[in-house]
Amino acid sequence: MEELAQRYEAVLERIHTAAKRAGRNPAEITLVAVSKTWPAERLLEAYAAGMRHFGENRVEELAEKRPYLTQHLGPTSGITWHAIGTLQSRKTDLAADYADVFHAIDRLKIANRLSARLIANGRTLPVFLEVNLSGEASKAGINCQNWESDATQQAELRTVAQQITQLSGLYLIGLMTMAPWDVEPSLIQTVFRRTRQLAAWLQTELELAQPLHLSMGMTDDFEIAIAEGATHVRVGRAIFGERGS
Ligand SMILES: *Cc1c(COP(=O)(O)O)cnc(C)c1O
Repeated sequence: MEELAQRYEAVLERIHTAAKRAGRNPAEITLVAVSKTWPAERLLEAYAAGMRHFGENRVEELAEKRPYLTQHLGPTSGITWHAIGTLQSRKTDLAADYADVFHAIDRLKIANRLSARLIANGRTLPVFLEVNLSGEASKAGINCQNWESDATQQAELRTVAQQITQLSGLYLIGLMTMAPWDVEPSLIQTVFRRTRQLAAWLQTELELAQPLHLSMGMTDDFEIAIAEGATHVRVGRAIFGERGS
């Protein structure tokens, strides 16, 4: 308990420092505590330590933990539940029913199915579009590896984003990306920077009134992400410790 609170405070401190260093207001950065694999009781401890944004990558897990915490804390706990992982199309109903924010739309089919369910259940869901800038095949997301020079990639992203903005129930609020694995920090930084530039490009293309948010940065790279404009960092291990197998 103590330890969890201390690790949480330490991450907040690092976010604060990274934001200041970049000339940014720390208050514009949301720390999503990635609680995947940890039992729901652990989330109660996290709540007591002050955490209010939780991230789960499996929607089945979200669908168990959310009711558990509501049962213990009541409906006005102030928790925001983030579904952060790529979704299989047969699980879109769970996401539409249990997530408050979804970070990983990677194709139109998912958006369409989410929208259909949201119309039925009367909820609304802010969403991030996941983009793949590293080109790694293991990563989900719309292929934006060469977006600056590739008109086809630009057109695909523009079309998907545009269609999402026309769907009921969904609100496009930003772009999400994952850094490449096992590369030097300068390369990670380049991916995050290009994602920020892509968000600015897309905002202009779609004539959006608000800037797009940026969900990027995890335990190993959230400070780099903040330097490059992240508004949502998704941090698991630095808060909860190493996940068991
Ligand atoms: C697990 C996960 C994270 C958090 O990773 P850590 O390295 O534990 O900080 C962030 N984003 C997604 C999509 C994840 O699946």
